[in-house]
Amino acid sequence: MNEIDNTVIKNARLILTMDDAGREMRDCDIRLQGGVIAEVGQGLAGAHKTLDARGCLITPGLVNTHHHLFQSLTRAVPGGQDALLFGWLQTLYPIWSRFGPEEMYISAQIGLAELMLSGCTLSSDHLYLYPNGARLDDTIAAAADIGMRFHPTRGAMSIGESDGGLPPDALVEKESAILEDCIRVIDAHHDASEGSMCRVGVAPCSPFSVSRDLMRDAAILARDKGVMLHTHLAENDEDIAYSLEKFGARPGQYAEDLGWTGNDVWHAHCVKLDGQEIDLFARSGTGVAHCPCSNCRLGSGIAPVRAMRDAGVNVGLGVDGSASNDAGNLVLEARQSMLLQRVANGADAMSAREALRIATRGGAEVLGRSDCGQIAVGKRADLAIWDMSGIEAAGSWDPAALLLAGPTQVRDLFIEGRRVVASGQVMSIDLPKTIGRQNELAQLLSEG
Ligand SMILES: [Zn+2]
Repeated sequence: MNEIDNTVIKNARLILTMDDAGREMRDCDIRLQGGVIAEVGQGLAGAHKTLDARGCLITPGLVNTHHHLFQSLTRAVPGGQDALLFGWLQTLYPIWSRFGPEEMYISAQIGLAELMLSGCTLSSDHLYLYPNGARLDDTIAAAADIGMRFHPTRGAMSIGESDGGLPPDALVEKESAILEDCIRVIDAHHDASEGSMCRVGVAPCSPFSVSRDLMRDAAILARDKGVMLHTHLAENDEDIAYSLEKFGARPGQYAEDLGWTGNDVWHAHCVKLDGQEIDLFARSGTGVAHCPCSNCRLGSGIAPVRAMRDAGVNVGLGVDGSASNDAGNLVLEARQSMLLQRVANGADAMSAREALRIATRGGAEVLGRSDCGQIAVGKRADLAIWDMSGIEAAGSWDPAALLLAGPTQVRDLFIEGRRVVASGQVMSIDLPKTIGRQNELAQLLSEG
């Protein structure tokens, strides 16, 4: 019997289950067996391995529904620090065009390690450029090596500068080649089974970087293969203006016309959705990846998350790419989502508990993972253990209010029953060595 087979986490001060009843359990143990939660209760014994969680809060692992992991190599680039979305992209495209397979692998490991330390056990990624032999497989290998449950999406751009698009021609691909590679990566890596560690999605970068035909063909392909669809939508005012001018439609209408609504679709940002579009998303089960820090950083606005939740839209959280955040700390992202709704709608607009539910169960629902996002018997053993005995929570009356007063890094993290962070250290890779290589690569990129 090895560690994955039977571990009991003992004496948790509080467990936030995020189950259907929203139960909060005091002084309890959790047994992990065969990658799932086998038992929750008091006085559990007979484990191969035990871990003491006295003084700790345990939550389901957080779920990140939007990221561009490759961008961790271009954090705080001077020309992009203070630009709006389109100008920001034009600063970064030439730098990204020099990436290759190693840049994709190392930057993904850094981004995933950062997420793990902030409590994340399931992350999607949106990789939409493939220069110099880079492939989606590079990031899939990075996630497998570090042990993250991963939903990579095969992004794409096909309209370059010479066709009136934003990206340089060197970063765009032929639409036939994009669809062929989507099929290749789905066939090679997509696992639809319960407990899957890798599910692939199809994700043209945005309506302004691919054609109407590719949007439609991508939706047909995804449905044929039974995989999910993802893109950026209604991010800021420029985005809405572009949609009205080029397509004669608001983003919600454009998405619906091309098959981009449904419970197998989730859109990033949606800062500028209007009331009709919110109703459309609620009716169709279309999910939203809310990225509050990136929206602040790029001055895009405050997404109408309160209205979305009240209408019944599935909302999850995303840190977005590390070039527009530029952090990748998911628990701080959850705090930011709570604060922004309060700025827009008042102090009672979103509780710390609700924001944490969005960050866990909400994200799992957006990604179609009914097997993740809650602490209940039979669900996957993805857990974040937060030590409440440190300075940040000292004096807190309510450990469940983690987003008001609590640590911003986990003590321990379990994914599929494996302890991937132990006592605050990532166990599965040599993190100092990876950080060293990341900094070397960033230096080389900055020298041109
Ligand atoms: Zn994004």
